[in-house]
Amino acid sequence: MASHGRSVTGRPAGPPALDFDVVVVGAGMSGLYALKVLREQGLRVVVVEKAPGVGGTWYWNRYPGARCDVPSLEYSFGFDPDLEQEWVWTEHFASQPEIERYLNHIADRYDLRRDIRLNTAVCSATFDEASDSWAVETEAGDRLRARFCIMATGGLSAPNRPPFPGIDRFGGTVVQTSLWPEQGVELEGRRIGIIGTGSSGVQSIPELARVAAHLTVFQRTPTFTWPSHNKLLTAGEQAAVKKRYREIRREQARSPSGTAGTTGALSFQVPIDDREILASTPEEREAVLGEFGFSACRVWVDTARDLEANEMAVELFREMVRRTVKDPELAEALSPRGYPLGCKRPVIDAGYFDTFNRDNVSLVDLREDGIEEITSTGIRTAQGHVELDVIVLATGFDAMTGALTRMDIRGRDGRLLRDDWADRPRTYLGVSMAGYPNLFVSVGPGSPSVLASYPTQIELQLGWIAALLRHAFEKGFTFVEADAAYQDAWCDHVDAVAEGTMFTAPSCNSWYNGQNVEGKPRVFLPYAGGLTVYMERCNAAAGNGYEGFSIR
Ligand code: NAP
Repeated sequence: MASHGRSVTGRPAGPPALDFDVVVVGAGMSGLYALKVLREQGLRVVVVEKAPGVGGTWYWNRYPGARCDVPSLEYSFGFDPDLEQEWVWTEHFASQPEIERYLNHIADRYDLRRDIRLNTAVCSATFDEASDSWAVETEAGDRLRARFCIMATGGLSAPNRPPFPGIDRFGGTVVQTSLWPEQGVELEGRRIGIIGTGSSGVQSIPELARVAAHLTVFQRTPTFTWPSHNKLLTAGEQAAVKKRYREIRREQARSPSGTAGTTGALSFQVPIDDREILASTPEEREAVLGEFGFSACRVWVDTARDLEANEMAVELFREMVRRTVKDPELAEALSPRGYPLGCKRPVIDAGYFDTFNRDNVSLVDLREDGIEEITSTGIRTAQGHVELDVIVLATGFDAMTGALTRMDIRGRDGRLLRDDWADRPRTYLGVSMAGYPNLFVSVGPGSPSVLASYPTQIELQLGWIAALLRHAFEKGFTFVEADAAYQDAWCDHVDAVAEGTMFTAPSCNSWYNGQNVEGKPRVFLPYAGGLTVYMERCNAAAGNGYEGFSIR
């Protein structure tokens, strides 16, 4: 291993000169926080971002109705008490424009922009064993060399665009929810077709229905969705949270999901008590339906691990669909069947099922026959041809791994991450990979990622990575790599904690387990053990001298 001298700052001196200490890929929540915290440690950091603006997810997903499903007062950073006191959220669940404004405010407030290169897409990252450094190449041909590289590329950032035959010859507009253009899309009075009924579809459908001449929803899998009951935040509600913000932040950090749940905004949630649906009477179930509506299926304690109980709860949900959607055939088509409650990410909505009572909305059920082709004027299925002006793809993401496998990431001995992950992603503690020294991932596979609120998680996880980097720079270490045996053990642990949950039920196909993308291996990607246990494991490794890492 090459050994270089050290400057008085602790930074390795002498050749080869590196452009930066750390290159961060992505200027979303993770990238912004990484820049802030690493710059405070005196490191030379550059952030590269392919979008023309900061915000990551909250830059790209500007489709009508885009909104966060974590309460705004909690879906925000807690690192600066002044920031959280001064920032004013207007709604319980913040809309995309408000979160984008917040992240732009962060970029300005902490003077981050001077180290962010926008419109800079990364195509490859290659580890150089001679100099213990990464060379990150951009599509424009620039090469940035840094000791460490942090992939702050997000869990839901690689759009999934199914190869619908004929899509390129459609004469109207095709737009993807996750690549919604900043200048907007002409929707008023148009015949709109939307493919997909996950969170993005469910959020946009009521909004599109309001402006379209006609909206046709192409649904492959009916979804479980719960009304958010979103509303404006009152000054009193804000003040009450701000008064005890420090305590709330501690509660968030100690919670498996990174949410305190005490900010009064989780109105779509219901208390899960010790009631068992298997032991309930029809009268009890009816009473719960009356009290909780769509959320009646979520009250029972025995639905999480018992498929029979789960199916009984699902029937309560279907009953609510029948009571809401006037046309019985349509209600049946919109009713989830064949996969358990709790397998997919919960969706929250504002008037989703009611939207199907409108005269200008119709459904094409793709369960039996998929989309045959997209023609120059619309979409053809076995049930006929629908004439359209606009096609909205709400078809989701190559989640958690796509952003990394779409780049050429080359580690030691020329290995390629895409190949190493062909049968499953492998990480140690969800942040680092054997064979890829000096490379870290934020909210990566094998970390809580999409199962815990991002700002809380990012502060904890990137805080941990930043501490490891500080340790390396202070000691003059130039090489940090996860050990393969520790990585294998971590993957086994990630699998074990998901085992027996509805996430891994045989009938569960979701983006959590890669089954939304053709050819993707069936592996449950996030760490289901909760943020608290996860951070305990990370902190224990750090406390043991970064156990599981080779550092030199
Ligand atoms: P998604 O949940 O994966 O939904 C994609 C939809 O497209 C599904 O209905 C899927 O059907 C359908 N689809 C995919 N390929 C298709 C094909 N070839 N033919 C027909 N239909 C097809 O993606 P998403 O809605 O973008 O949401 C992803 C995640 O992003 C969410 O779960 C959430 O974590 C996050 N998100 C959050 C919010 C929020 O905070 N409120 C909003 C948007 C997104 P199948 O189910 O049959 O595959």
